[in-house]
Amino acid sequence: MDNNLLAELLFPQVTQTIEDLEQRFPKRDLDENAKVTRFAPSPTGFMHIGGLYATLISWFLAKQSGGVFMLRIEDTDKKREVENGIEQIISVLGRFGITFDEGATGVGTANGAYAPYQQSLRADIYAICGKELVKKGYAYPCFCSEDDLAALRSKQEQNKEDDLGYYGEYATCRKLTYEEIKAKLEQGEKFTLRLKSPGSKENSIKLKDSVRGIIEFPENIMDIVLLKSDGIPTYHFAHAVDDHFMRTTDVIRGEEWLPSYPIHHQLFQVLEFPLPRFLHISPIMKLDNGNRRKLSKRKDAEAAVSFYLEEGYPVDGVLEYLLTVANSDYEEWRMAHAAEDYHNFKLSVKKMSVSGALFDLVKLNDICKNVIAALSQEDVIAGIKAWAAEYNPEFAEYLEANDEYFRKTVAIWSGGGKKARKDIFKWSQVAAEYDYLYQEQYNSKPFPCYQLPENFDIAEIKRVVNEYELRYSEPADSSAWFAGVKELAAEMGYCTDMKAYKADPTAYPGSVADFCTFLRIAITGRINSPDLFSIIQAIGEQNTRSRLKNFIVSH
Ligand code: GLU
Repeated sequence: MDNNLLAELLFPQVTQTIEDLEQRFPKRDLDENAKVTRFAPSPTGFMHIGGLYATLISWFLAKQSGGVFMLRIEDTDKKREVENGIEQIISVLGRFGITFDEGATGVGTANGAYAPYQQSLRADIYAICGKELVKKGYAYPCFCSEDDLAALRSKQEQNKEDDLGYYGEYATCRKLTYEEIKAKLEQGEKFTLRLKSPGSKENSIKLKDSVRGIIEFPENIMDIVLLKSDGIPTYHFAHAVDDHFMRTTDVIRGEEWLPSYPIHHQLFQVLEFPLPRFLHISPIMKLDNGNRRKLSKRKDAEAAVSFYLEEGYPVDGVLEYLLTVANSDYEEWRMAHAAEDYHNFKLSVKKMSVSGALFDLVKLNDICKNVIAALSQEDVIAGIKAWAAEYNPEFAEYLEANDEYFRKTVAIWSGGGKKARKDIFKWSQVAAEYDYLYQEQYNSKPFPCYQLPENFDIAEIKRVVNEYELRYSEPADSSAWFAGVKELAAEMGYCTDMKAYKADPTAYPGSVADFCTFLRIAITGRINSPDLFSIIQAIGEQNTRSRLKNFIVSH
């Protein structure tokens, strides 16, 4: 068959060639080591934490090499698309400080010389490449219906074939003559464009994955669909065409694409495009009843990037956590460079692990605690307010109405990096963690349960709280307050000299520290809290008294 004739028959509207595309999207004028990477999501309204992880790696590698980071929208499946899907992706990543040098900026809008960056707007480019493959004898039209394909499959199953799919002898439309194709087209039949695979199972190909090293595969033999009947490309074809004409140097994507690598390899080969480098990222795993499995969109709230925003995790903490997953020496670097911006960490492809890392919520929380502890009080206040405004309007209203009080309370627990406590790892925790600071004004419920020390009798704790309540008078300052507490403690038999106490603890009901703990429990419900005097001062005399009384009546 004359392939040129067939190409004209199938794509009469296409007048340009691959050569034209080579000129339209020229090689980039970048340093040899500069990496051009991309994030290529579908605008489905859902971003998986694995997507953020892959983005972070792609972004770091591009930025650290003086390269380019692009946003390509893979909107070839209209059924899964949501309204404002592109804007959502840009806005979510923007909140993590991730921006693009080039790419889609909204539906139909883009920034960069390799536009459009939205696959649904690149039909002309795919058609040019499809036509070229027909000309070269590497593609042909297929008129098989869903039923034909199902029948083919059952025949293959009957024949106990190892390979199920459209290939070799089973690829019926491979055998159509020019006249038969022409007749079908004249009858208005629609076609998909298929690859005419030149592969053989006897041959093998090699992938040099940037993380996994060399992986050998048998060559692809499947005549996969390149263009669907509406001209929309499959992922495979779009990947080869787009990554070539966007001049991607490093394709960084999920490990789930590894098995289809032989198809991609062959597509680059038949299109005569040089192969980019590939880096297949291991998924983030979770332990479920002792079994490792991928974080699942359906089962795990923490699989969604939106979860971290809704919960009020500091975005820098989430990113730093993902850096520890990417490179195990990140933590060491962080310890040696405590004050440095994490962007200065040199991410190394060589240090990325092949096996999927386990998602470690405890570690994430620890990192976020450190990030929050290092924030200035103003930044803490701004972080809480911004989070509440978006996700907890009731708390936002409270903060608005009690601004001065709220500022005073933040000063009690957030030391602006100096003496800060590390209780908080996400903003949604604040009202509950420090309920004793907001109890009357916001929570309006008495403490539901008090933490009690195991080594003291409740009757003794009550005796102390009761006496303190009877003697309570508004303290003038911290030292006057403590002097008063010490005096009362001594009067009640408590040891005020820690050395003496340690020498003979049985001689006393407890130390002055224990005495303070009892007061702390009655006032805050907790065995541990920030400075008790500051809390008393913040909540005021009336609230302090009523909490002391409340403790007594509820035990
Ligand atoms: N749209 C594909 C995905 O979300 C992109 C994979 C790639 O980066 O090539 O999995």
